[in-house]
Amino acid sequence: MDFSEVELTAEQQAFEKELRDLLDTNWTPDYAHISLDHDRAPDAVRTGMVERGWIHPHFAPDAGGAGLGEIEQQIISSLFEEFYMASPGGNDLLIPTLDKHGSEWLKANVLPGLRTGELSTCLGYSEPDSGSDMAAAKTRAVRDGDMWTINGQKMWTTGAHHADYVFLLARTGPIEEKHRTLTMFLVPMNLPGVQATPIWILGGGRTNVTFYTDVEVSDDYRIGGVNDGWSVMSTPLATEHGAGVVTEGVTPVNGSMGQSFSRTFAKLIDGAIDWAASRKDAEGRSRLEDPLVRMALAEAMLDLEMCWNAAGELGKPMAAEALATNADRLADMAAPEGILDFGVDGKIAAGIIASQRLHSPGTAIYGGTTEIYRNNLARRLGLPRPY
Ligand SMILES: Cc1cc2nc3c(=O)[nH]c(=O)nc-3n(C[C@H](O)[C@H](O)[C@H](O)COP(=O)(O)OP(=O)(O)OC[C@H]3O[C@@H](n4cnc5c(N)ncnc54)[C@H](O)[C@@H]3O)c2cc1C
Repeated sequence: MDFSEVELTAEQQAFEKELRDLLDTNWTPDYAHISLDHDRAPDAVRTGMVERGWIHPHFAPDAGGAGLGEIEQQIISSLFEEFYMASPGGNDLLIPTLDKHGSEWLKANVLPGLRTGELSTCLGYSEPDSGSDMAAAKTRAVRDGDMWTINGQKMWTTGAHHADYVFLLARTGPIEEKHRTLTMFLVPMNLPGVQATPIWILGGGRTNVTFYTDVEVSDDYRIGGVNDGWSVMSTPLATEHGAGVVTEGVTPVNGSMGQSFSRTFAKLIDGAIDWAASRKDAEGRSRLEDPLVRMALAEAMLDLEMCWNAAGELGKPMAAEALATNADRLADMAAPEGILDFGVDGKIAAGIIASQRLHSPGTAIYGGTTEIYRNNLARRLGLPRPY
């Protein structure tokens, strides 16, 4: 969405100002790096947003939100990106799942905190030997009366180091039966035997390996039926993929990841334009007049226009691949400053070109690889699988 084409109402302008002030007050120039490394907005920002019902602004006020619309959701995402601040993170994917499949205990004791955003979650699907093929998960949950004992290891559990709960995919029967013997749990991260260790990723940012050693959890924390995990997981997964599944208040426009990557892509182009407009060649001409620079910028802009218009499940693979290709292209164009990262003198636009050159290849992996998206799209369209 291009904000230059949207006229904000007086209320939306006031909302934008209030949020901008909240971010501004809790911002220092070095914060971008710290925020990205820790993959979390500053505590004061999170608390301010929880108090205002802005973590899930689209929920009704009596359901933990502020009864706001899609424009306000877009303002929140755009301002966080403008400030280079990690998203305050929400539980949009899990709340409808808990509403539908959660135990009465979870609904009474955990769901309200997830709705306001006071409590946060992370996703424990991937393992060292299973990522795309999630039905091969080995982490095992064994039942004894009302208790389960969980043992195993998850990879890439993003946000695990500050989350209150992990939405955990566990094996509860013979592994040969693949997706028919999986069960979902909401495991408290503070239980004995749960451990998160960091994986530092290219371009700044942290994800985690999580270990589960004899973790004892009550049956109250099971979500859905025993061995019914595959169907419990299917809705949050489809929503994450932007597959046209509309759950409460979650915008289907362009798929959430595709839209977020497109906004980052737009900032990348702005950074490259700033660079070109402020540099001169040996003859003293603006780099903006250089035909090669103009061509690189024009190609990037055309790619971005396609990404803005790629709806649903198409949004993520298109935007991820366009972002990676253009981060490389624009880093070459703006070399050598293009590869100067956060905190380095001479960097361009807070180092966005350099950091996206390193970070963007990962966008084609997390939340499902672009190859898997292509397979899914082909299946839905009745076409042969490309892979
Ligand atoms: C930064 C980051 C954050 C992440 N955060 C989380 C998280 O919070 N929670 C979580 O559970 N996971 C998370 N992941 C894991 C991510 O979802 C997986 O890495 C991804 O699904 C791929 O799985 P894999 O790494 O095991 O690779 P594999 O599945 O082994 O794939 C390797 C290669 O083979 C290709 N491939 C595999 N199967 C097929 C097929 N059927 N058809 C065509 N090609 C195929 C893939 O596209 C890929 O190129 C994160 C990953 C990263 C990098």
